[in-house]
Amino acid sequence: MRAVCNKILHTCSSLAIATFMLVHSESVSADAVHLFSGGFPASTIQNLTYYKDPSLTTYTYADEVDKAAPSWNGISSKVKLTNGASTAKVKVYAGNYSTQTWNGIMDPYSGGTYDPEGDDIWDSARIRLNYYQMTTQKSLNSLSIQSVAGHEFGHALSLKHTGRSVSIMTDDYYDDFSYYLPQTMDKDHLKLKWGY
Ligand SMILES: [Zn+2]
Repeated sequence: MRAVCNKILHTCSSLAIATFMLVHSESVSADAVHLFSGGFPASTIQNLTYYKDPSLTTYTYADEVDKAAPSWNGISSKVKLTNGASTAKVKVYAGNYSTQTWNGIMDPYSGGTYDPEGDDIWDSARIRLNYYQMTTQKSLNSLSIQSVAGHEFGHALSLKHTGRSVSIMTDDYYDDFSYYLPQTMDKDHLKLKWGY
């Protein structure tokens, strides 16, 4: 995107500068720096299945997961998240992880091995939601829990953190649960990664 901006700027007409500013503002909202270079294969992303482990019912988060997952549908024609069997690619769990500071976490696996950089081709992912942080410590309401679940599904779709933005993918340490649905920036990142 940056190379495109420079190219336009070099033409130096006022129209080109106006165009540059439009293109530039778009490049701020959707930038590959906010994407994992790795992820599930595109053929998998076309119908990415998630499995709700029974622990989600035990810790009362099943409804939030079922609301969060489809909020990523209808944005890119190349991306669909659907509930599936225990053989699903993304397995979602809840637990009382009292020694952990995270509300939720997504771990991707490539060839059965954890991919800490998110730069490999994934064959599965594990999402965990932390009852200890979200409910015991913070008493989060249902929409805030949905925000955390939606954020973790965003990671499974190869979206990285967006700092402090109008985004469901804000950095975890802000504990910002304002956005429980994908925002314009998040939709732009999804389309940048997977197509329209
Ligand atoms: Zn995160």
